Amino acid sequence: MIDTFGRTIDYLRISITDRCNFRCRYCMPGDLPDAGHDAVLRYEELGKICRAAVACGIDRFKITGGEPFVRKDAVSFISRLKKMDGVRAVTVTTNGFFLEDKLPALAAAGINGINISLDSLDREQFRRITGTDGLSRVLQAIHQCSQYGIRTKINAVLLKETADQILPLAEIAQKQAVDVRFIEVMPIGSGRGQAGITADAALQQLRRAWPDLTVTAERRGNGPAVYYESRSLRGDIGFIAANSHRFCSACNRLRLTSTGFLKPCLCYDMGIDLKSLVRSPQAEPGVLERAVRQGVQMKPSGHCFADEGQITEHKGMNQIGG
Ligand code: SAM
Ligand code: SF4
Repeated sequence: MIDTFGRTIDYLRISITDRCNFRCRYCMPGDLPDAGHDAVLRYEELGKICRAAVACGIDRFKITGGEPFVRKDAVSFISRLKKMDGVRAVTVTTNGFFLEDKLPALAAAGINGINISLDSLDREQFRRITGTDGLSRVLQAIHQCSQYGIRTKINAVLLKETADQILPLAEIAQKQAVDVRFIEVMPIGSGRGQAGITADAALQQLRRAWPDLTVTAERRGNGPAVYYESRSLRGDIGFIAANSHRFCSACNRLRLTSTGFLKPCLCYDMGIDLKSLVRSPQAEPGVLERAVRQGVQMKPSGHCFADEGQITEHKGMNQIGG
């Protein structure tokens, strides 16, 4: 699908649950009630929406959350989606806590990649940020991903308090063939008001360790990350600079919230309620496809993070999926 600004839209991120076992302070507040069982799309409903999206030209999917692996049968859903006609790639974003046990089934399903969030290698700081003493489990899962030959990326949010973690986190790409990506904190959900640092400041730090860091020639993955390589690194270093380098001109995505709302842009609350369409007994054939196409046409030219007063999205990142 081509949107009104000439961008090709071929990627859908799906939050399959708003629930999470962590409480990352930039993502969701500690006391947030979950949406409730009935409010969240059933797998069968998600399947129908994915088929409609594929019919419109979406061929890559990201399964996210909340934490996707707190939802029962997430791996079976991923496996069915992988087998759906027209689907080119399915990847998942996870906090890694429940991942290790799931790896054999994910590898067997042919998962195309796993992104694992990790902001600090300091056990106590990790606990303070996420609300969970889970660092060793996450590190073990990262290690195991490589054993299964699954393409793995680490996502680290660039918080002011974790500035001294940038180098140790990047060093993972020296030890393992894993890409490490640094994400500027976005003013969405609990990210509003969080003190962050810019991707440029992080890059400057890393250039001191690897002066030959150079932007990679090829475009990678589904998204807006810019990757750098060094002769001394087995993986690459990526930066997602949502605030300091607007990348909306290359935006390729739609988002589906855990309660079935199709979001054309992270920044605004406008979109289309696919849940009522997928649940309506009177729905005519093709109604979901038309809604997906309409969602694409609603995409704005770009986000408005620079002017926070313009942000109309008040859902948490756990509902949106990041
Ligand atoms: N629970 C999974 C995880 O943590 O990877 C998947 C959901 S989480 C919402 C997806 C991604 O969004 C994570 O990499 C997380 O770090 C990122 N994220 C959440 N809130 C953010 C914010 N305010 N700014 C930037 N990234 C954020
Ligand atoms: Fe949970 Fe992921 Fe949000 Fe952390 S970033 S609270 S792990 S959904």
